[in-house]
Amino acid sequence: MYTREYKKELDLTYLFISHQLQITQKICDHIAVLYLGSVMELGTSDQIFFRPLHPYTEMLVSSILEADPDIPGLVKVPEDPGRQEKYRGGCKFAGRCPHAKEECFREKPGLFEADSGHLVSCFRYRI
Ligand code: SF4
Repeated sequence: MYTREYKKELDLTYLFISHQLQITQKICDHIAVLYLGSVMELGTSDQIFFRPLHPYTEMLVSSILEADPDIPGLVKVPEDPGRQEKYRGGCKFAGRCPHAKEECFREKPGLFEADSGHLVSCFRYRI
């Protein structure tokens, strides 16, 4: 019996932690994308995979679609050495984010609801 069938038949709730996004898409109803221990985006599996909002989620989903690093169009997550120390007061993703503005390095974004049940930790979605 597969995980989804167990879940339905036994009315179970799983907490599944993985670095393999493809697997989470197959078995999870809701996904929280974490970066350096903080939630960057939270939504249904469809929201995360078909309408990712956070730049980090976009990069992760893009990396699944294009496994070959030499294929043009692949969005790579840029290096940011020492990031844990540098961005303690601001957005943890600021050093790698192509959309980072000055406030991102100073202020920590909260979780903003961009759509029903779709939360994202990014100033671009602050209302
Ligand atoms: S808050 Fe700023 S640095 Fe962080 S993900 Fe959003 S745009 Fe990028």
